[in-house]
Amino acid sequence: MTACTINGAFVAKAVFSSTGGESSAGVAAPARSRAQQIASSCRSSSSSSSSSSSATSCFFHLQGSKILKRSGYYSSGDLPWSAARRKSGTPVCTMASTVVSKQAKGRGNWNKSLSILKEFQSVCSTPAESLWSLVDEMIAEMEAGLAKEGGGKMRMLLTFVDNLPNGNETGIFYALDLGGTNFRVLRVQLGGKEGGVMRKESREAAIPPELMQGTNKELFDYIAKELADFACTSDENFCPRGKRLQLGFTFSFPIHQTSIKSGNLINWTKGFAVPDTVGKDVVKELEAAITRQGLEMRVSALVNDTVGTLARGHFVDEDVMISVILGTGTNACYVEDAAAIPKWHGRSRFMVINTEWGSSWSDNLPRADVDEALDAESINPGDQFFEKLVSGMYLGDILRRVLLKMATEAQLFGDEVPSKLLSPLSLTTPKMCAMHHDETSDLHEVGRILSESIGVDDTSLEVRQLVVEVCEAVAMRAARLAGAGIVGILKKIGRDGSTSGENGSVRSGAPRTVVAVDGGLYEKYPRFQEHLQKVVVEMLGEETAQQVSIELSQDGSGVGAALIAACCPSAPSL
Ligand code: ADP
Ligand code: MG
Repeated sequence: MTACTINGAFVAKAVFSSTGGESSAGVAAPARSRAQQIASSCRSSSSSSSSSSSATSCFFHLQGSKILKRSGYYSSGDLPWSAARRKSGTPVCTMASTVVSKQAKGRGNWNKSLSILKEFQSVCSTPAESLWSLVDEMIAEMEAGLAKEGGGKMRMLLTFVDNLPNGNETGIFYALDLGGTNFRVLRVQLGGKEGGVMRKESREAAIPPELMQGTNKELFDYIAKELADFACTSDENFCPRGKRLQLGFTFSFPIHQTSIKSGNLINWTKGFAVPDTVGKDVVKELEAAITRQGLEMRVSALVNDTVGTLARGHFVDEDVMISVILGTGTNACYVEDAAAIPKWHGRSRFMVINTEWGSSWSDNLPRADVDEALDAESINPGDQFFEKLVSGMYLGDILRRVLLKMATEAQLFGDEVPSKLLSPLSLTTPKMCAMHHDETSDLHEVGRILSESIGVDDTSLEVRQLVVEVCEAVAMRAARLAGAGIVGILKKIGRDGSTSGENGSVRSGAPRTVVAVDGGLYEKYPRFQEHLQKVVVEMLGEETAQQVSIELSQDGSGVGAALIAACCPSAPSL
């Protein structure tokens, strides 16, 4: 039997023919106990060999408790288990290594963990030149999508918003925001240039998980009931009785919109899966549910949260031309010249285009094996690749998957893979963010979150540092991709400085462009925000970047919808 040590750790690793199937941890019990035997044998046979760090580890092919063959040696960075599985050509279960470390508890095969980190960092790296290639690809897809419906991988949906608020709007409007984890109803009073948003009331409710995957009627009845309850709470001044109320409906899922107040759902995203809504006009569904509640209210505008954010931004600053959502999901919209939209035959001067950039618009997005696995196990495999790399719904889970890989292949957290690490909900993006920003000298918060979320106590400082490195790689890739997306839109509308003046200087009088950003990820994740701001300057250059301002614009998906309801012609004010 071969003894193996890696940095003082003894390793026995096994692959065995599957007769009984895998356990939930991917570790079959008979093989695990055999491996433990091997490990203990390795330990005793090399106890005299001190803690040399020069040895390699080896694989044992097992059947039941019998060793079939040793598959050879590997050094750190070598075969992942999945590769061993492919090589065998027969269905095999894989099992975790059994590691006995002489050093810090829960470090396992440290070099292997480091090599997993390095490989992940390398796949996630986003140098400016690769980002520019992505930008060029993105613009080609945008143009194809603008040319005809379904013409490109970017949907480039018409929003029918060809008028944006300019601050003169007045009246009382309702808004309803459905787009992810938060569902809100709002009531706002607009007071024109002088008054701005004079008064605002809102109520928030979570969509019960069973309704996110239930029926169309259940979902809309729930929403309409919340709206009706909220409408009852208004005082006489804020909500005059006897008048039909106007509602701006923010519905942040891909819609095929046919007018400012009608649109059919293309598909659900962000964890929603209500099959009988797909293909239906969500305004009709909502209005029917509102009627069932006996409420006198009509939908004046159907918008996306990006459009709402654009409207909210434009209400206070007319240089807002682009808006981006970085929350549970991600998306962007912008003001496009009507002449650049061949599929739009209307008379307007411009139209707000909803890019739906969360889609899988490029095969060259930097994706690692964990991203492929996340996609394969998601409710929409093959779809929304950009979103799955960038948005808050997924970042924590990418981190979890990298740590799971380290736990399985390199025993980062000890002999057993922590069972909580197998649960997709164990590491959320807010937890990742908290670990990423831990500034204590012993990374105390990282230790606390690992203990609380995945049940691993007493992690060493090195393990905690490694976890922070993974957080950095995941967040940096996400932020840089989002930043590149913004640069892509700037380039599409000629605001990236490429139409420069003499000597390459920014043309005098080049317009200022404001990008309004909303969403919990951008708002509450400072490192993400820094990386995003930085990459835009890196790509555009200091001088052009001075003409571009990326600003947090909150509550666009709420107040913004009310503003569109107020400024679109079919929505006279109260
Ligand atoms: P939604 O996108 O559902 O409308 P938000 O804009 O509030 O809602 O974004 C919520 C998302 O923001 C969460 O799903 C989460 O991914 C992310 N998020 C919330 N809090 C934090 C945080 N402290 N750090 C990082 N991300 C966060
Ligand atoms: Mg939102």
